[in-house]
Amino acid sequence: MRTEWIGANRLVIKIGSSLLVDSGSGTLRHAWLEALADDIAGLKAQGKEVVVVSSGAIALGRNALKLPKGPLKLEDSQAAAAVGQIDLAHAYEDVFRERNLVAAQVLLTLGDTEERRRYLNARNTMTTLLKLGAVPVVNENDTVATSEIRYGDNDRLAARVASMMSADCLVLLSDVDGFYTAPPGSSADARRLDEVREITPEIEAMAGDVGSDLSKGGMVTKIEAARIAVAAGTHMVIASGKVLHPLEVLAHKGTATWFLARSDPVTARKRWIAGTLEPKGAVILDDGAVQALASGKSLLPAGVMRVEGSFERGDAVVIRTSQGVEIGRGLAAYGYEEAKAIIGRKSSEIAEILGYLGRPELIHRDDMTLYRRG
Ligand code: GLU
Repeated sequence: MRTEWIGANRLVIKIGSSLLVDSGSGTLRHAWLEALADDIAGLKAQGKEVVVVSSGAIALGRNALKLPKGPLKLEDSQAAAAVGQIDLAHAYEDVFRERNLVAAQVLLTLGDTEERRRYLNARNTMTTLLKLGAVPVVNENDTVATSEIRYGDNDRLAARVASMMSADCLVLLSDVDGFYTAPPGSSADARRLDEVREITPEIEAMAGDVGSDLSKGGMVTKIEAARIAVAAGTHMVIASGKVLHPLEVLAHKGTATWFLARSDPVTARKRWIAGTLEPKGAVILDDGAVQALASGKSLLPAGVMRVEGSFERGDAVVIRTSQGVEIGRGLAAYGYEEAKAIIGRKSSEIAEILGYLGRPELIHRDDMTLYRRG
């Protein structure tokens, strides 16, 4: 057993639709869910806290509503989720009750994790549920999510939940048993990696193209999830859920890919910044500023070559090198127009340029998370 597994006291388990719902009949795979519930009861008996993030609402609902196979229109998937979520919640309630566990349904929308006040509120509720011994079963509130304002995939939702709850470990149970050096089927010598210690541009490239249909909800979102998790201090593991008792199998045999979290402690606020799903812009740094950030300094306007996007003061922005590599995220102390006016200039000139005395830094180090491992 891996130390990351043994040492994990708070776990988030993400379950993909294809594991829970039979693709032929569109019905729930009861035997599999029973076996999963045994595993979760085992973890709870060891005193661990478990949060489940479960997909399957749309897959179950589309069957009940007799919607056609193939991609659904947004309004049809919203209708399907409204129907299927009831089944899903019932199924968890049943299997957990048989094992003396209490299931709690939590439906989140993107704003619940992206707006800090709502985020703190959701976190409080979930913390209370865990304290009371319940097992939160989380899904996106697909029925009210519009196309622009939704996670769209439960990989990133699960990572956001894991970082929100300061989980020790996020398990993505899926139909593949790990992360491969090339998309399955695209190359004969694609091999599974046991461990990923840093999410480099090479790792991103291995996940495939962002835009392609094949990778949607596949490895690209899993790498994004890994980025959110590890920056928050949560280890993430991609493991096969195609077996019965997938968590037992993971614990003992361990064919999987582990994304190891950085070891330095991350503050809750920085965790939230690192996981922002919708940065509003980007700042592009010169090499000197990249070095200054790496040594723990704040970002001064002088080291910024370019700003992009339409961010306001306080919005999250991506921090990039001049080669285009994303090295972190932070909250901008100035909106785009003001930032544009002061980049490349000394902080002592800010008052003269803007006509008021603002902060000397464009992103303060307390408002910034860098991805590099310390
Ligand atoms: N929230 C969706 C559902 O419950 C699933 C999204 C996903 O599978 O990533 O059906």
